[in-house]
Amino acid sequence: MTSSFSNLSLAEPLARAVAEMGYESMTPIQAQAIPVVLTGQDVMGAAQTGTGKTAAFSLPLLQRLLKHESSSTSPARHPVRALVLLPTRELADQVAQQIALYAKYTKLRSTVVFGGMDMKPQTIELKKGVEVLVATPGRLLDHIEAKNAVLNQVEYVVLDEADRMLDIGFLPDLQRILSYLPKQRTTLLFSATFSPEIKRLASSYLQNPITIEVARPNETASTVEQRFYSANDDDKRRAIHQVLKTRGIKQAFIFVNSKLGCARLARSLEREGLKTAALHGDKSQDERLKALEAFKSGEVDLLVCTDVAARGLDIKDVPAVFNFDVPFNAEDYVHRIGRTGRAGASGLAVTLVSGSDARLVADIEKLIKKKIDLEAIEYEEDRPRGRINDGRRAWREAGETGDPRDVIPAAVRERNERREPRESREHHRGFRPAVASRDPFFEKPYEPSSADTAPAWEAAAKSPARSSISANIKPKRKVAALFKAVQPETSTQ
Ligand code: AMP
Repeated sequence: MTSSFSNLSLAEPLARAVAEMGYESMTPIQAQAIPVVLTGQDVMGAAQTGTGKTAAFSLPLLQRLLKHESSSTSPARHPVRALVLLPTRELADQVAQQIALYAKYTKLRSTVVFGGMDMKPQTIELKKGVEVLVATPGRLLDHIEAKNAVLNQVEYVVLDEADRMLDIGFLPDLQRILSYLPKQRTTLLFSATFSPEIKRLASSYLQNPITIEVARPNETASTVEQRFYSANDDDKRRAIHQVLKTRGIKQAFIFVNSKLGCARLARSLEREGLKTAALHGDKSQDERLKALEAFKSGEVDLLVCTDVAARGLDIKDVPAVFNFDVPFNAEDYVHRIGRTGRAGASGLAVTLVSGSDARLVADIEKLIKKKIDLEAIEYEEDRPRGRINDGRRAWREAGETGDPRDVIPAAVRERNERREPRESREHHRGFRPAVASRDPFFEKPYEPSSADTAPAWEAAAKSPARSSISANIKPKRKVAALFKAVQPETSTQ
């Protein structure tokens, strides 16, 4: 169900901001949640990042706060009225940026506080007075203790990505924060899953919540083509190269289970000619944001990441997701592959399965309620690694029209034909020849939104990553230790 924002009678400053963002119709979570939040009822929403849930809670919340708008410069006229809690600094910054955009034509003030940064600039902002405070729990408690943040006039609290907050061990922090808030308030809880712990949290802190569910957590989007290939640990990088080439994929997320594995894989892929960045908990805040921006702008083609580091990041329509490691937790599989095939776009999710992964794959099978067929990979041994296959390049150069087979240079065609009869190659479901015109990727190739650049394995070295980090983020020092305090990425992350 989608409907127009004009049906909502949003106040003019909010409607103007929404129009400026280019939103035409509401997403399903918005269509369901906004009218409920406007009535001031508590909400328990099952929705993942990428569904438009930030606007779903912040637009009605801002609308309800408009009555408190004040042009006074006195901090006393700008007490915190809404508190939005998120598990990670990246998410907090992302949500705060969105809220600032929605509120830009109002007099309501917003700011964000999270760990790993100097407290001083955050303190200055808080002391000036803000109506909407976005925060990670640990840093918020620091500010509460330092008496920089007073929460006794909070009317709205949003617990966003609540399941992840519990996973990270934030429950005691959340309980403490909630104890500082007035009992009379609206509480909105968003979570990808409604686990028993989340239900317990909701029953303790929400009053008669309306449950809104837009996509069940064990559902994988039908637009995602899921492939499971058997690959020894030693063959997995080769497998990635092969799939990238065969499917002509420009950008992908590659998930690994450990921080160490993440760093190692990123280094190896980079050495092999792929423009790669790593995103894990031992990276400094600045490095992580730079990696993200570089990926978003198309300057980096592969983002190798751990689950915690990647959770909920607002990167849409990635053409492919690789599970270099099968996730330990089947639900993480759903989160991981949710990065691709979003908003109706088609996507590819490739999971590389080694001999010891049988139990993990069985868990995934159970969760997604789909039979998993393990397939074999056909490697193109005679091609130099890290380069796109010649046939596909030729087809691209010819404008990607017509039958790709027509433009494959004769020498390449000959070599292809020599290797193996077509029928025997096609029986590997995932590895149709690169020229298969039925492949949706050939008909509708992915283009990064901001730059129409060729992938690294096609193009020469590109300029260094663009840095357009939020003004909120002024890295002070390496934050590995601090990050651990926020997200205990143990040896598995
Ligand atoms: P979220 O799930 O809140 O992180 O939102 C994901 C992305 O969807 C953000 O980039 C939003 O700007 C965008 N978005 C949110 N609502 C809409 C909408 N109604 N139409 C188009 N884009 C939207």
